[in-house]
Amino acid sequence: MRLESIDGKKKVDLNVEGVFLEIGLTPNTKPLKGLIKLNSRREVPVNKDQSTTLGGLFSAGDVTDVEEKQISIAVGQGALAALTAYKFLIEKKQTNSKSD
Ligand SMILES: Cc1cc2nc3c(=O)[nH]c(=O)nc-3n(C[C@H](O)[C@H](O)[C@H](O)COP(=O)(O)OP(=O)(O)OC[C@H]3O[C@@H](n4cnc5c(N)ncnc54)[C@H](O)[C@@H]3O)c2cc1C
Repeated sequence: MRLESIDGKKKVDLNVEGVFLEIGLTPNTKPLKGLIKLNSRREVPVNKDQSTTLGGLFSAGDVTDVEEKQISIAVGQGALAALTAYKFLIEKKQTNSKSD
């Protein structure tokens, strides 16, 4: 098998019969830059209800600081994040109507 660098400058021949690709775990949190403090792995730290340090921002799945990155975990976190966001909006609505 021959490996070639993206710029095509380096080529390496490997005498192997199979290869497992590791695509890495760094999440795309660029859109959150400046909004919240990320951890050292550039993940979003979340509370147990999926809320974050920024009011109104909820996070779920691989992008969070959850230890295990699995589909079932991401789905569960997504459901919890949606319920927490719903509660947040209801409470906000009640606060706004009291101040009217
Ligand atoms: C090769 C591989 C094999 C895996 N095998 C398993 C397995 O067997 N079982 C298992 O449970 N888990 C497995 N996983 C892990 C599983 O895929 C993840 O845990 C799961 O997909 C996480 O879901 P998510 O919604 O958090 O993130 P993702 O599924 O990564 O979804 C994030 C989405 O956001 C999009 N996105 C990113 N940035 C932006 C942006 N700026 N604007 C708009 N959209 C954006 C992405 O394109 C993507 O569609 C595997 C992962 C990999 C890479």
